[in-house]
Amino acid sequence: MLNGKTALITGSTSGIGLGIARGLAADGADILLNGFGDADEIERLRGQIADEHGVRVIYHGADMSQPAQIADMIETANHEFGRIDILVNNAGIQHVAPVHAFPVERWDAVIAINLTAPFLMTRAVLPQMLERNWGRIINIASTHGWVASVDKCAYVASKHGVMGLTKAVALETATTGVTCNAICPGWVLTPLVQKQIDDLAAREGLSADAARVHLLGEKQPSLAFTTPEQLGALAVFLCSDAAANFRGAGLPVDGGWLAQ
Ligand code: NAD
Repeated sequence: MLNGKTALITGSTSGIGLGIARGLAADGADILLNGFGDADEIERLRGQIADEHGVRVIYHGADMSQPAQIADMIETANHEFGRIDILVNNAGIQHVAPVHAFPVERWDAVIAINLTAPFLMTRAVLPQMLERNWGRIINIASTHGWVASVDKCAYVASKHGVMGLTKAVALETATTGVTCNAICPGWVLTPLVQKQIDDLAAREGLSADAARVHLLGEKQPSLAFTTPEQLGALAVFLCSDAAANFRGAGLPVDGGWLAQ
């Protein structure tokens, strides 16, 4: 379905972004990977995805808190591929602390990477999508785009902001072939969540297994993690013709979190 299309996925060297990159590559899209990590491991991933699916895969290490690096990544994608058809704004960070003790520097970093970067990416890529009258912008928000949790003020504010951005862009493109939607995962077992499990285990004196069950039990009635592969499949669906009239949606994949 996605042969000849190009996808840029921010934060795709790990976790959900990597799952989405694999899903889009499996469907035929050429891929720009982005994110941090060990250079050899990233090169191994790049080669593996390219070989497995017979698509072109390039890597750019832009730091999503740095507007000049974001611009350089987009220029690289345009230069190498000639186009960006699918933009997945996925890179994100977390910091956990009560609001009165929340470091201002962490607030700024969370807002820059989780919210300002998707705005800058969308702003830069949308004109070429509109010119071709086809495009898919997929923002990885969160259940925290809909509801809050304690000690996550910057993350919750950033993800509510991402939902606002998603709806605004969807309205501005509503009569075109470009759609903008958000995916709102609950718990997905990635390094971002593993750190919260490790912190919980240390704080409460729990085993890793007990901390995992405790974390799920608090919020996610299915008591099962969503997988990056499942989110990759949803991203592929959002790129299909069947999803052409999904506009401004925030799709929960949350094991029942928001049903409570
Ligand atoms: P992760 O830590 O596994 O991956 C994050 C990716 O972003 C990595 O590739 C990392 O290198 C990259 N990254 C981090 N800071 C960056 C920066 N400044 N510039 C460029 N890349 C950067 O996390 P994940 O769990 O896969 O999270 C991905 C997205 O999904 C985030 O936006 C997160 O908020 C969201 N999300 C995650 C969960 C979950 O349970 N894991 C739930 C809801 C939403």
